[in-house]
Amino acid sequence: MTAKFELEKMVRKNILALKPYSSARNEYAGKKAHVFIDANENPFNSGINRYPDPLQVELKQLVAPMKGVRPEQIFFGNGSDEAIDLVYRVFCEPRLDNVVAIDPTYGMYEVSADINDVEYRKVQLDDNFQFRAFSLLNECDCHTKAIFLCSPNNPTGNNLDRNEIEKIIMGFHGVVVVDEAYSDFSDARPFRLDLDKYPNLIVLNTFSKAWGSAAIRLGMAFASPEIIELFNKVKYPYNVNELTQKQAKQVVTDSARLHKQLRQVLDERESLMRAFAQLPICEKVYPSDANFFLAKVTDATKIYNYLVDRGIVVRNRHHITLCSNCLRVTIGTVQENSELLGALRQYR
Ligand SMILES: *Cc1c(COP(=O)(O)O)cnc(C)c1O
Repeated sequence: MTAKFELEKMVRKNILALKPYSSARNEYAGKKAHVFIDANENPFNSGINRYPDPLQVELKQLVAPMKGVRPEQIFFGNGSDEAIDLVYRVFCEPRLDNVVAIDPTYGMYEVSADINDVEYRKVQLDDNFQFRAFSLLNECDCHTKAIFLCSPNNPTGNNLDRNEIEKIIMGFHGVVVVDEAYSDFSDARPFRLDLDKYPNLIVLNTFSKAWGSAAIRLGMAFASPEIIELFNKVKYPYNVNELTQKQAKQVVTDSARLHKQLRQVLDERESLMRAFAQLPICEKVYPSDANFFLAKVTDATKIYNYLVDRGIVVRNRHHITLCSNCLRVTIGTVQENSELLGALRQYR
Protein backbone atom coordinates (compact mmCIF):
# COMPACT_ATOMS: atom_id res chain seq x y z
CA MET A 1 0.00 0.00 0.00
CA THR A 2 2.53 2.56 -1.17
CA ALA A 3 0.91 5.87 -2.02
CA LYS A 4 2.34 8.21 -4.62
CA PHE A 5 3.52 11.56 -3.27
CA GLU A 6 3.31 14.45 -5.74
CA LEU A 7 4.45 17.61 -4.01
CA GLU A 8 2.95 20.12 -6.47
CA LYS A 9 -0.49 18.56 -6.04
CA MET A 10 -0.29 18.93 -2.25
CA VAL A 11 0.80 22.59 -2.18
CA ARG A 12 -1.77 25.42 -2.19
CA LYS A 13 -2.01 27.02 -5.63
CA ASN A 14 -1.30 30.55 -4.35
CA ILE A 15 1.88 29.32 -2.63
CA LEU A 16 3.11 27.49 -5.74
CA ALA A 17 2.60 30.69 -7.72
CA LEU A 18 3.98 32.97 -5.02
CA LYS A 19 6.83 35.29 -5.91
CA PRO A 20 8.49 35.77 -2.51
CA TYR A 21 9.71 39.07 -1.10
CA SER A 22 13.31 39.61 -2.08
CA SER A 23 15.27 41.35 0.67
CA ALA A 24 18.40 43.44 0.21
CA ARG A 25 20.50 40.68 1.76
CA ASN A 26 18.86 38.10 -0.53
CA GLU A 27 19.75 39.99 -3.69
CA TYR A 28 23.31 40.63 -2.67
CA ALA A 29 24.58 37.14 -1.91
CA GLY A 30 28.12 36.20 -1.12
CA LYS A 31 30.40 38.38 -3.25
CA LYS A 32 33.09 40.31 -1.37
CA ALA A 33 31.89 43.75 -0.32
CA HIS A 34 32.72 46.21 2.42
CA VAL A 35 30.27 49.06 1.92
CA PHE A 36 26.70 48.10 2.71
CA ILE A 37 24.38 50.94 1.77
CA ASP A 38 21.64 48.76 0.32
CA ALA A 39 19.26 48.15 3.22
CA ASN A 40 18.65 51.53 4.87
CA GLU A 41 20.31 50.36 8.06
CA ASN A 42 22.05 52.56 10.64
CA PRO A 43 25.72 52.53 9.54
CA PHE A 44 27.23 52.66 13.05
CA ASN A 45 28.34 49.22 14.16
CA SER A 46 26.74 48.06 17.41
CA GLY A 47 26.69 44.34 16.67
CA ILE A 48 22.98 44.54 15.90
CA ASN A 49 22.70 47.37 13.37
CA ARG A 50 22.65 45.00 10.36
CA TYR A 51 19.85 42.70 9.21
CA PRO A 52 20.61 39.06 10.03
CA ASP A 53 21.29 36.34 7.44
CA PRO A 54 17.77 35.50 6.16
CA LEU A 55 18.75 31.87 5.47
CA GLN A 56 21.05 31.30 8.49
CA VAL A 57 23.75 29.75 6.27
CA GLU A 58 26.53 29.51 8.88
CA LEU A 59 24.26 28.01 11.50
CA LYS A 60 22.95 25.42 9.04
CA GLN A 61 26.52 24.40 8.22
CA LEU A 62 27.21 23.82 11.92
CA VAL A 63 23.97 21.98 12.67
CA ALA A 64 23.83 19.75 9.56
CA PRO A 65 26.65 17.34 10.56
CA MET A 66 25.38 17.17 14.14
CA LYS A 67 21.95 16.11 12.92
CA GLY A 68 23.13 13.90 10.05
CA VAL A 69 21.33 15.97 7.38
CA ARG A 70 22.42 18.34 4.61
CA PRO A 71 22.18 22.14 5.03
CA GLU A 72 19.57 22.37 2.25
CA GLN A 73 17.34 19.98 4.24
CA ILE A 74 17.14 22.41 7.20
CA PHE A 75 14.60 25.12 8.01
CA PHE A 76 15.03 27.31 11.10
CA GLY A 77 12.07 29.12 12.60
CA ASN A 78 10.86 31.12 15.58
CA GLY A 79 10.38 27.94 17.63
CA SER A 80 8.92 24.72 16.25
CA ASP A 81 5.67 26.66 16.33
CA GLU A 82 6.68 28.49 13.16
CA ALA A 83 7.36 25.24 11.28
CA ILE A 84 4.01 23.81 12.44
CA ASP A 85 2.21 26.95 11.24
CA LEU A 86 4.04 26.79 7.89
CA VAL A 87 2.78 23.25 7.29
CA TYR A 88 -0.75 24.69 7.32
CA ARG A 89 0.04 27.82 5.35
CA VAL A 90 1.92 25.94 2.62
CA PHE A 91 -0.30 22.87 2.25
CA CYS A 92 -3.79 23.48 3.62
CA GLU A 93 -6.55 25.48 1.96
CA PRO A 94 -8.62 27.01 4.79
CA ARG A 95 -12.17 25.57 5.14
CA LEU A 96 -11.45 22.96 2.48
CA ASP A 97 -8.49 20.81 3.48
CA ASN A 98 -7.94 18.83 6.69
CA VAL A 99 -5.17 17.18 8.70
CA VAL A 100 -5.16 14.00 10.81
CA ALA A 101 -3.36 13.57 14.14
CA ILE A 102 -3.08 11.25 17.10
CA ASP A 103 -4.82 12.15 20.37
CA PRO A 104 -3.53 13.00 22.93
CA THR A 105 -0.53 14.87 21.59
CA TYR A 106 1.17 18.28 21.54
CA GLY A 107 -1.49 21.01 21.65
CA MET A 108 0.01 23.36 19.07
CA TYR A 109 -0.97 21.20 16.07
CA GLU A 110 -4.64 21.78 16.84
CA VAL A 111 -4.28 25.45 17.82
CA SER A 112 -2.44 26.12 14.58
CA ALA A 113 -5.17 24.28 12.63
CA ASP A 114 -7.83 26.43 14.31
CA ILE A 115 -5.93 29.65 13.56
CA ASN A 116 -5.62 28.65 9.92
CA ASP A 117 -9.26 27.50 9.77
CA VAL A 118 -8.28 23.97 8.79
CA GLU A 119 -10.23 20.92 9.98
CA TYR A 120 -8.28 18.87 12.56
CA ARG A 121 -9.21 15.16 12.79
CA LYS A 122 -8.13 13.24 15.90
CA VAL A 123 -7.60 9.52 16.29
CA GLN A 124 -7.38 8.31 19.86
CA LEU A 125 -4.33 6.29 20.92
CA ASP A 126 -4.85 2.87 22.54
CA ASP A 127 -4.31 2.14 26.24
CA ASN A 128 -0.57 1.74 25.67
CA PHE A 129 -0.50 5.17 23.98
CA GLN A 130 0.19 3.47 20.63
CA PHE A 131 -1.63 3.72 17.29
CA ARG A 132 -2.32 1.61 14.21
CA ALA A 133 -1.48 3.11 10.83
CA PHE A 134 -4.74 1.96 9.23
CA SER A 135 -6.88 3.80 11.78
CA LEU A 136 -5.22 7.11 10.87
CA LEU A 137 -5.22 6.37 7.14
CA ASN A 138 -8.95 5.53 7.42
CA GLU A 139 -9.61 9.12 8.53
CA CYS A 140 -7.95 10.53 5.41
CA ASP A 141 -9.74 11.67 2.27
CA CYS A 142 -8.63 13.57 -0.84
CA HIS A 143 -8.53 16.82 1.18
CA THR A 144 -6.17 15.46 3.87
CA LYS A 145 -2.86 17.23 3.32
CA ALA A 146 -0.87 16.33 6.44
CA ILE A 147 -0.65 13.77 9.24
CA PHE A 148 0.88 14.86 12.55
CA LEU A 149 2.81 12.35 14.68
CA CYS A 150 4.94 13.07 17.74
CA SER A 151 7.56 10.59 18.91
CA PRO A 152 8.47 10.52 21.77
CA ASN A 153 4.93 11.79 22.26
CA ASN A 154 3.92 14.66 24.52
CA PRO A 155 2.30 14.31 27.07
CA THR A 156 2.51 10.51 27.17
CA GLY A 157 6.34 10.33 27.00
CA ASN A 158 6.63 7.16 24.90
CA ASN A 159 8.05 6.50 21.45
CA LEU A 160 5.43 5.62 18.86
CA ASP A 161 5.78 2.24 17.14
CA ARG A 162 8.35 2.65 14.36
CA ASN A 163 6.65 0.17 11.99
CA GLU A 164 3.35 2.00 12.20
CA ILE A 165 5.04 5.37 11.54
CA GLU A 166 6.71 3.89 8.45
CA LYS A 167 3.37 2.52 7.23
CA ILE A 168 1.91 6.01 7.53
CA ILE A 169 4.79 7.67 5.67
CA MET A 170 4.63 5.13 2.86
CA GLY A 171 0.84 4.76 2.74
CA PHE A 172 -0.18 8.43 2.80
CA HIS A 173 -0.38 10.71 -0.26
CA GLY A 174 0.37 13.91 1.70
CA VAL A 175 3.10 15.14 4.03
CA VAL A 176 3.81 13.38 7.33
CA VAL A 177 5.13 15.50 10.19
CA VAL A 178 7.10 13.53 12.78
CA ASP A 179 7.82 15.81 15.75
CA GLU A 180 11.02 14.54 17.37
CA ALA A 181 11.43 17.38 19.89
CA TYR A 182 12.44 14.77 22.50
CA SER A 183 14.41 12.30 20.36
CA ASP A 184 17.71 13.15 22.12
CA PHE A 185 16.36 11.46 25.24
CA SER A 186 15.48 8.26 23.39
CA ASP A 187 17.46 5.30 22.05
CA ALA A 188 15.25 5.01 18.97
CA ARG A 189 16.75 5.83 15.59
CA PRO A 190 15.55 9.33 14.64
CA PHE A 191 13.47 9.61 11.46
CA ARG A 192 15.46 12.61 10.24
CA LEU A 193 18.21 10.13 9.21
CA ASP A 194 15.77 8.64 6.67
CA LEU A 195 14.86 11.90 4.90
CA ASP A 196 16.36 10.79 1.59
CA LYS A 197 14.12 7.72 1.64
CA TYR A 198 10.88 9.66 2.28
CA PRO A 199 10.12 12.72 0.10
CA ASN A 200 6.90 13.41 2.07
CA LEU A 201 8.55 13.44 5.52
CA ILE A 202 8.96 16.56 7.66
CA VAL A 203 10.82 16.04 10.96
CA LEU A 204 10.68 18.67 13.71
CA ASN A 205 13.49 19.30 16.23
CA THR A 206 14.05 22.19 18.60
CA PHE A 207 16.69 24.07 20.57
CA SER A 208 14.22 24.22 23.49
CA LYS A 209 14.69 20.81 25.13
CA ALA A 210 17.96 18.81 25.13
CA TRP A 211 19.82 21.78 23.64
CA GLY A 212 18.87 23.91 26.63
CA SER A 213 17.85 27.08 24.80
CA ALA A 214 14.09 27.55 25.09
CA ALA A 215 14.58 31.30 25.57
CA ILE A 216 16.13 31.97 22.15
CA ARG A 217 13.09 30.51 20.28
CA LEU A 218 14.74 28.36 17.65
CA GLY A 219 12.95 25.43 16.06
CA MET A 220 14.09 23.21 13.21
CA ALA A 221 12.34 21.36 10.43
CA PHE A 222 14.16 18.78 8.32
CA ALA A 223 12.70 17.83 4.93
CA SER A 224 13.49 17.53 1.23
CA PRO A 225 15.13 20.62 -0.31
CA GLU A 226 11.89 21.15 -2.28
CA ILE A 227 9.77 21.37 0.87
CA ILE A 228 12.39 23.55 2.61
CA GLU A 229 12.30 25.92 -0.37
CA LEU A 230 8.53 26.28 0.01
CA PHE A 231 8.96 27.08 3.72
CA ASN A 232 11.63 29.67 2.86
CA LYS A 233 9.29 31.28 0.34
CA VAL A 234 6.49 31.73 2.86
CA LYS A 235 8.38 32.57 6.09
CA TYR A 236 8.99 36.18 7.19
CA PRO A 237 12.20 37.33 5.46
CA TYR A 238 14.24 37.72 8.67
CA ASN A 239 12.46 35.17 10.85
CA VAL A 240 15.46 34.25 13.05
CA ASN A 241 17.09 37.28 14.64
CA GLU A 242 20.82 37.92 14.95
CA LEU A 243 21.01 37.40 18.74
CA THR A 244 19.37 34.00 18.36
CA GLN A 245 21.69 32.96 15.51
CA LYS A 246 24.76 34.06 17.51
CA GLN A 247 23.68 32.26 20.66
CA ALA A 248 22.74 29.11 18.72
CA LYS A 249 26.23 28.93 17.19
CA GLN A 250 27.71 29.09 20.70
CA VAL A 251 25.39 26.38 21.97
CA VAL A 252 26.21 23.92 19.19
CA THR A 253 29.94 24.43 19.50
CA ASP A 254 29.80 23.32 23.15
CA SER A 255 28.37 19.88 22.48
CA ALA A 256 30.41 18.34 25.34
CA ARG A 257 28.33 20.35 27.79
CA LEU A 258 25.09 19.28 26.09
CA HIS A 259 26.09 15.62 26.29
CA LYS A 260 26.94 15.89 29.97
CA GLN A 261 23.60 17.52 30.75
CA LEU A 262 21.80 14.87 28.72
CA ARG A 263 23.46 12.07 30.73
CA GLN A 264 22.49 13.77 33.99
CA VAL A 265 18.87 14.15 32.93
CA LEU A 266 18.69 10.48 31.87
CA ASP A 267 20.21 9.33 35.18
CA GLU A 268 17.78 11.50 37.11
CA ARG A 269 14.86 10.26 35.00
CA GLU A 270 15.55 6.73 36.12
CA SER A 271 15.88 7.49 39.82
CA LEU A 272 13.01 10.01 39.94
CA MET A 273 10.60 7.66 38.16
CA ARG A 274 11.56 4.78 40.46
CA ALA A 275 11.07 6.91 43.59
CA PHE A 276 7.83 8.44 42.27
CA ALA A 277 6.35 4.98 41.69
CA GLN A 278 6.87 4.22 45.42
CA LEU A 279 4.85 7.23 46.60
CA PRO A 280 1.50 6.53 48.30
CA ILE A 281 -0.20 9.00 45.89
CA CYS A 282 1.12 7.19 42.79
CA GLU A 283 -1.03 4.69 40.94
CA LYS A 284 1.09 4.29 37.82
CA VAL A 285 4.21 5.73 36.22
CA TYR A 286 4.12 5.39 32.43
CA PRO A 287 7.36 4.51 30.61
CA SER A 288 9.30 7.48 29.25
CA ASP A 289 11.60 8.08 26.28
CA ALA A 290 11.68 11.83 26.99
CA ASN A 291 12.84 14.32 29.65
CA PHE A 292 9.51 14.06 31.45
CA PHE A 293 7.12 11.34 32.51
CA LEU A 294 3.40 10.94 32.89
CA ALA A 295 2.03 9.47 36.13
CA LYS A 296 -1.45 8.52 37.25
CA VAL A 297 -2.09 9.67 40.81
CA THR A 298 -4.91 9.44 43.34
CA ASP A 299 -6.25 12.96 42.65
CA ALA A 300 -4.32 14.98 40.08
CA THR A 301 -5.99 18.35 40.65
CA LYS A 302 -5.70 18.23 44.45
CA ILE A 303 -2.07 17.17 44.27
CA TYR A 304 -1.32 19.78 41.63
CA ASN A 305 -2.74 22.52 43.88
CA TYR A 306 -0.96 21.13 46.93
CA LEU A 307 2.38 21.34 45.06
CA VAL A 308 1.67 24.86 43.77
CA ASP A 309 1.09 25.98 47.37
CA ARG A 310 4.63 24.73 48.07
CA GLY A 311 6.08 26.58 45.09
CA ILE A 312 6.42 23.47 42.91
CA VAL A 313 4.74 23.48 39.50
CA VAL A 314 4.05 20.29 37.56
CA ARG A 315 1.66 19.98 34.61
CA ASN A 316 -1.88 18.84 35.37
CA ARG A 317 -3.08 16.72 32.43
CA HIS A 318 -6.31 15.55 34.10
CA HIS A 319 -8.58 16.94 31.35
CA ILE A 320 -6.57 15.51 28.44
CA THR A 321 -7.78 12.42 26.51
CA LEU A 322 -6.65 9.15 28.22
CA CYS A 323 -4.89 11.16 30.95
CA SER A 324 -7.48 11.46 33.72
CA ASN A 325 -5.76 12.00 37.07
CA CYS A 326 -2.41 12.29 35.35
CA LEU A 327 0.40 14.70 36.11
CA ARG A 328 3.26 15.37 33.71
CA VAL A 329 6.56 15.87 35.50
CA THR A 330 9.68 17.33 33.84
CA ILE A 331 13.01 15.93 35.08
CA GLY A 332 14.64 18.74 37.06
CA THR A 333 17.96 19.04 38.85
CA VAL A 334 18.81 16.58 41.65
CA GLN A 335 17.79 19.29 44.13
CA GLU A 336 14.47 20.05 42.41
CA ASN A 337 13.52 16.39 42.08
CA SER A 338 14.21 15.66 45.73
CA GLU A 339 12.16 18.70 46.73
CA LEU A 340 9.26 17.30 44.69
CA LEU A 341 9.55 13.85 46.30
CA GLY A 342 9.86 15.36 49.79
CA ALA A 343 6.69 17.40 49.32
CA LEU A 344 4.74 14.44 47.94
CA ARG A 345 5.82 12.16 50.80
CA GLN A 346 4.20 14.65 53.18
CA TYR A 347 0.93 14.79 51.21
CA ARG A 348 -2.06 13.57 53.22
C1 LIG B 1 8.43 21.46 23.61
C2 LIG B 1 7.95 20.92 22.32
C3 LIG B 1 8.30 21.52 21.12
C4 LIG B 1 9.19 22.72 21.08
O1 LIG B 1 8.56 23.85 20.68
P1 LIG B 1 9.42 25.19 20.45
O2 LIG B 1 8.44 26.10 19.83
O3 LIG B 1 10.55 24.82 19.53
O4 LIG B 1 9.93 25.63 21.79
C5 LIG B 1 7.88 20.95 19.93
N1 LIG B 1 7.12 19.84 19.93
C6 LIG B 1 6.75 19.24 21.06
C7 LIG B 1 5.97 18.00 21.01
C8 LIG B 1 7.14 19.76 22.29
O5 LIG B 1 6.75 19.16 23.42
